[in-house]
This record gives sequence, structure tokens and C-alpha cells, in this order.
Amino acid sequence: MGDRDAVLLTKSLMRFDTVNPPGRERDCARHAGALLKEWGFRVDYHEYEQTRTSLVARAGGTREAKPLCLTGHLDVVPLGSRAWTHDPFKGETDGDRLYGRGSSDMKAGVAAMLLACKALSKRLQNTPGVVLVLTAGEENGCIGSKHLAQSQLLGKAGAMVVGEPTSNYPFVGHKGSLKFHARFRGVSAHGSMPHLGVNAIYKAARVIPGLEAFDFGAQEHPVMGGPTLNVGTIEGGSTVNAVPDAAAIGVDIRTVPGMRHDALLERMKDLLGEAELDVFSDLPPVWTEPQQEWVQRVFEICKPYVGEAPQARTAPYMTDAANLLKVYDGAPTVVLGPGEPAMAHQTDEYCSMERVRQSVAIYEALIRDWCRV
Ligand SMILES: [Zn+2]
Repeated sequence: MGDRDAVLLTKSLMRFDTVNPPGRERDCARHAGALLKEWGFRVDYHEYEQTRTSLVARAGGTREAKPLCLTGHLDVVPLGSRAWTHDPFKGETDGDRLYGRGSSDMKAGVAAMLLACKALSKRLQNTPGVVLVLTAGEENGCIGSKHLAQSQLLGKAGAMVVGEPTSNYPFVGHKGSLKFHARFRGVSAHGSMPHLGVNAIYKAARVIPGLEAFDFGAQEHPVMGGPTLNVGTIEGGSTVNAVPDAAAIGVDIRTVPGMRHDALLERMKDLLGEAELDVFSDLPPVWTEPQQEWVQRVFEICKPYVGEAPQARTAPYMTDAANLLKVYDGAPTVVLGPGEPAMAHQTDEYCSMERVRQSVAIYEALIRDWCRV
């Protein structure tokens, strides 16, 4: 079964094709759940759609103290259009490298979390305990964690570790994201008589300079820097010889702590005038003060593995933490996992097998520290 070693377990998780879309995390979730049950964990599953399975497992726990949450996602991104030189699912190795889709992002992280849970499972009784949250549907907008946060399954947690790829460097947060389509309507007419129509593309084009020059008026965050805005898509018209009656732009805003998404959306509405806004992602930033006491302990635990005292840094990507913190309100959070951030979503994705094994030791140390075992 390959559940004894972190590299073998990563390989066995990679063999489940959880490419999203369509996702199909169920078999992978059931596999992890069966192992956890064998190790004495209580396991609950949650499906937000057929085969889109997330899992919540716990061990230990007391009335007074909140558990430590370890979390990761089970889905992986598509293989991309470039050909792979290594099989994306078979777990081929070369030196220290383990190749495959999801090796870095983030089945290695999930495997390491599972094995750390296994190592300490017998000692968690009458301690604050551990809650392991493995999600479906992270890669297309953190949908699985959004649904989990609306269920009653998450319970409580006093701190959270997100096992996304960081080369075992503890990051203290990441930006938030606000993404929407702005849709413009016009009136169609023959391309030879444009004065009879209303051109929706012109309407969309008119607001774009305002977006490009948009001044957030927000202070720079000392670690994350400033917020950003990008117009990522533009669509409109159906043929060159007609006045287009519809056009849409896709806008991606990344926010920093202290910004309010509702206020920002109001400013966008003012700027975009009559456009219809369709918000499809609204996730707040995640940030824990690096001086926070538990974060300092995490830094201390990671120090030997990163070769220096960790500095306050944040991840460039989004994580499920943005949703899970809606339930685990105020829990200090770090993003910390064995994968290579630069390898996420790449052709010939790989991770370092050495780092995967090290991360088992790091997660174990974090559980020991939290549960005092
Ligand atoms: Zn990821």
C-alpha cells in the first residue's frame, strides 16, 4: 500500500487522477480516509457534488482546548498543452526528484501530513488533538473549502497549517482575491450601419483605462506590498460585420489586509457604470502577525530545515485558509509544505523527496508542540 514512507505515499496519492476539472477526488479521499480510520482517526466525508469529496478527520481533543488543524487539497491542475517527459501519474524519480502532477501541489504535503498524524495518533487522547481537513475543488476557486465552511463538520481549531508548496519555509499569509466579470450590453446592427446600433465593445473599452490606472488608495502592506488589479480577459461580438450587442471583461484584484472587499466592489461599480458585475471569487487575505507566539514556535521548528531563522514572508497564491478561517476565526495560520512553489502547475512538475521526508518531521514537531506529547 505504500503508507509507511512519505515518498511512497505521495506516489500512491498521485496515482489517483484528481485532475480538476473534473476533479473526481472521491477515490483519493476514501483512500486517505481508510488509512486514517486504521490509525484511529474519526473520519467524516463531505461531497458538494457527486465525486467531489472532502474529508475531515480528527484524533484526540478535549473540551477546553482547540485542536491544531492541518489542511491540504486533493485536486490537481490539468496537465497543460506541452508534452511531459515524465509520466504525470506514475511517480517516476530522478535523483532527489519525484515527478508527477500534484507532486509539489500538493500530494506530497498531504502525504506528509497523513504520516505525521499516523506517527502520533496513539498519543493524542486527552490532548487538544488534531483535525485534518483534506479538500476537493481547491484549484478552481476553493469551492470544496467554501462548502465545508458552510457545513457543521469543521468544528473548532486553535491554529492552522496549510500544506501548500513552500519548500518547507513557513509563510505567514497571502493576499485575498476578488474576481468578477463585468458585462456590457449594446444594440446590434449591420456593420455597414453602425449609427443604428450601440457598440458594447466600445463601452467595455472605455472603462479599461480607468481600471489600468485604478488607485486603490490603500497603504502598502509591509510584507505583501500593495494590492494589484489585472484585466485578464475581454470578450465581445460574434462577427466582424455587425455591431456587437455584448462584451465582457474579466477582472482579477488581489487585496491586502486592511482592505474591505465590499467597499472596493462599490468603487468598482462606480467606475464601471452600467456594467453588470458577476463576482465569482471573493476570498479575504490571510495574515498572522509574525510575532504571534505560536508562529514564533513554528519558525523555531522550521529553522534547522531552512538553514536560518525564518523571516516574515507570504505566499504568492491563494489557499483554502481564506474559507476555513470563516469557521476557525482568528486562528493563527501558516502556509508550510514540502512542495516547490515554482513547480506548481508546471509541465514536468516535481518535488524534492528529501524535503517531503523532512516535512513529516516538521509536521510531527508541530503536533507535538501543540498537543505537548
Ligand atoms: Zn495548491
